[in-house]
Amino acid sequence: MVGAGTMGAGIAQVAAAAGHPVLLFDLRADALSAALDRTRQGLERLVGRGKLSQNAVDALLGRIRPVERLEDLAPAALVIEAISEELDSKRRLFEQIEGICGEHTILASNTSSLSITALAATLRHPERLIGMHFFNPAPVLKLIEVVSGLATAPAVADCIHASAVRWGKQPVRARSTPGFIVNRIARPYYAEALRVLEAGGADVATIDAALKEAGGFRMGPFELMDLIGQDINFAVSRSVFDAYFHDPRYRPSRLQQELIEAGRLGRKSGRGFYDYHPGSAQPVAREARPGPAPTQVSVYGDLGPAEALVAALAGAEIAVQRTMIGPGFIVVPGATLALTDGRSATRRAAEEGIADLVLFDLALDFAKASRIVIAAADQAPAPAIEAAAGLFQALGKAVSVIDDSPGLIILRTVCMLANAAAAAVGEGVCSAADCDTAMRGGVNYPLGPLAWADAIGLTRVATALDHLYECYGDERYRAAPLLRRKLYGGRRFHE
Ligand code: NAD
Repeated sequence: MVGAGTMGAGIAQVAAAAGHPVLLFDLRADALSAALDRTRQGLERLVGRGKLSQNAVDALLGRIRPVERLEDLAPAALVIEAISEELDSKRRLFEQIEGICGEHTILASNTSSLSITALAATLRHPERLIGMHFFNPAPVLKLIEVVSGLATAPAVADCIHASAVRWGKQPVRARSTPGFIVNRIARPYYAEALRVLEAGGADVATIDAALKEAGGFRMGPFELMDLIGQDINFAVSRSVFDAYFHDPRYRPSRLQQELIEAGRLGRKSGRGFYDYHPGSAQPVAREARPGPAPTQVSVYGDLGPAEALVAALAGAEIAVQRTMIGPGFIVVPGATLALTDGRSATRRAAEEGIADLVLFDLALDFAKASRIVIAAADQAPAPAIEAAAGLFQALGKAVSVIDDSPGLIILRTVCMLANAAAAAVGEGVCSAADCDTAMRGGVNYPLGPLAWADAIGLTRVATALDHLYECYGDERYRAAPLLRRKLYGGRRFHE
């Protein structure tokens, strides 16, 4: 293991826990001792909690041997580097290792953003270099992206994949393309939230609450960007954007850049989208005033992903009159409700001639969601929004009323994540199964984006993207060719 920083120390622990003898090298001797101290402390906390025996800790630490010279790595069968993220430094290091280790030694890089093809270009044997992208903290997070460059030998990829499985990890295979799988497909999670905010659709706390309480995501995009660091998150967006020759799909946000210019880097600087100084007031999500609880509703057609609302209404002792014709609408006195299809409520009210239209956003599970986001058409009279809020409140849900934002918050985010995933799979970056595994394991999404698209229906996803495209005239919303192909072929991403 070369580099004993945050990642190197963690990866050394993972390999040692799997029984491998590990040689650990760092340019700085103090980094080596600090890494071993940190690892010991971390493991001893596990002993304290009864998760590990002291004997196991001693044995594990006994397998990690700090070494003073790079030449001491000569016996290694696998060398993983986690040094600073600089192409030239990493290239120089691998060139040196080629001269030290045997010809069958596999060379792996933990780079998050550099091209594996470029890293291998100056080697005598580029076929033995591979990406082994761990996530932080490496001993805890199971995902590893096993990244092949243009020259990487398939046998090397197979060997690293099999090793990762033996180490108790969840490896996925990726082709070396900017952002690999997770850092590329996750971009819209931040970008769509930033766009809704920039357009004045909703505020930070409401967007975060919507994606957590209705979308089922572990963290909202703004609190997550604050945790990662605005500068780091922006740099990743920038590097993917630059690497794709400024493809609008990956365009970073001006608003985020402004935050960085102001020094609001997130938790680490005490302020980002939120203020972390002790005693500072925390913004709260918008909460609709209590509206009238309906005693009877009419449901027309199929509500699609929102079908669970019908049972929930019956469970709340609200009489449901069901007519299985027409597109999905819920009608209460004073309002007509529909799940967003990517059009604004105002446009849809005009096109469909429904003056009291109120749109509601997607939820991961309409039965369990504790919050629902709604928006009224400009044409709708004021009581319409109260009537719509009253319906969801009668089901025990908090309601956030936002501005009339196309695709509201969750549907547009999920569709754009699915579109990014479809583009990656279509371009041969990874398989559909590995894509979803990576997004669940690497960033904790409640569903893989492709499984989510399958669940809500590919027609719905493509329609929403087309509507967003029409609304903004922005190339970023163009549907991925693989999404259309699956749609026209009557197939799903996971058959
Ligand atoms: P870090 O700064 O904590 O550690 C880097 C270590 O490498 C330092 O101890 C430094 O002394 C040492 N080093 C630098 N040049 C060296 C050289 N030529 N030879 C030997 N040692 C050298 O960095 P980190 O956060 O552990 O990141 C390391 C790598 O892992 C980077 O490529 C980064 O992009 C990648 N990565 C980081 C994360 C993360 O969340 N931190 C996640 C995944 C991947």
